[in-house]
Amino acid sequence: MSDGKAWPVSERAAALHRDALVWDDHGGFGYSKASVLDCLERWRRAGIDYLSINAGYDVKPWTLTVEALSQYRQWIRAHADTVVLADGVADIRRAKADGKLAVTFDIEGMDSLNGDAGMVDLYYTLGVRQMLFAYNRNNLAGGGCHDADVGLTPFGREVVREMNRVGMIVDVSHCAHRTSMEAIELSTSPVIFSHSNARRLWDHERNIRDDQIKSCAAAGGVIGVTGVGRFLGPKGAVAEHLVEHIDYMVELVGPAHVGIGMDSVIDPKPRGPVYEASRAYWPEAQYPDSGSGYVQPEAFPVVVQALLDRGYGEDDVRGIIGGNFHRIAEQVWK
Ligand SMILES: [Zn+2]
Repeated sequence: MSDGKAWPVSERAAALHRDALVWDDHGGFGYSKASVLDCLERWRRAGIDYLSINAGYDVKPWTLTVEALSQYRQWIRAHADTVVLADGVADIRRAKADGKLAVTFDIEGMDSLNGDAGMVDLYYTLGVRQMLFAYNRNNLAGGGCHDADVGLTPFGREVVREMNRVGMIVDVSHCAHRTSMEAIELSTSPVIFSHSNARRLWDHERNIRDDQIKSCAAAGGVIGVTGVGRFLGPKGAVAEHLVEHIDYMVELVGPAHVGIGMDSVIDPKPRGPVYEASRAYWPEAQYPDSGSGYVQPEAFPVVVQALLDRGYGEDDVRGIIGGNFHRIAEQVWK
């Protein structure tokens, strides 16, 4: 945990950020080997108490998700002085008190289930606490946001029931409109968008419409705004845009239903042959070759400052930077 002296914010913002439980609901590390987690210290120094680490997505074979979970769990055990794999929310509060970063895992796309809803229980045991249906393209569970707008398949519906039973959070980021709305309707637990921005502010297919935001909130869920530059606005990966998306959603559904899933990529790699071979997941028109960057973990205290400057009350800020997603975990995890 940082004392916050290096953060470029007021003493009031730093004190609030230090004291609040700060929750980053999604980070992608593009697993190749466990040492990709060496940069986690950046999160801890930025005063972040919890991060959901992505362990796999539909673009890669499901067996690589299992390998990543094994490798990441070993890496975390070897770094027990600074990082903790949380089982429940009490572990996250304890990690904060100890100055450590708490983590769990997420999966983007149900190809990782290999057609077996029983895998939900296995992944939960391994530390996966949230999972979304389809990564951009339609799959055996439902629709992705860059594909034909379809709803949940019978298998997708079976998985929702299993996630509810096991206590895994149902996530609808990256999904088709219909799939997201049907999952919110079907799930008996609140559903989240772990990392999705407002389409009304920036017209990208990965961003979500007002009816999705409203349905999610009406069912008790939380939407995490994301710092991926191409989903933010004309200036790309700047905290200013992130705050605009937060502010828009707060206007729409209130401060209790908005959080942050930053998706900071620390060291973006140039596009290579693997990317080109999987180009259908990132259609050219939506993902032009010029990258627009990622908001970095260090922006968290800057967001706190910006929200205070906009007149947000301290309790609302605490909710947005962590309390709201913490509440969902308390409700859903078992
Ligand atoms: Zn994602």
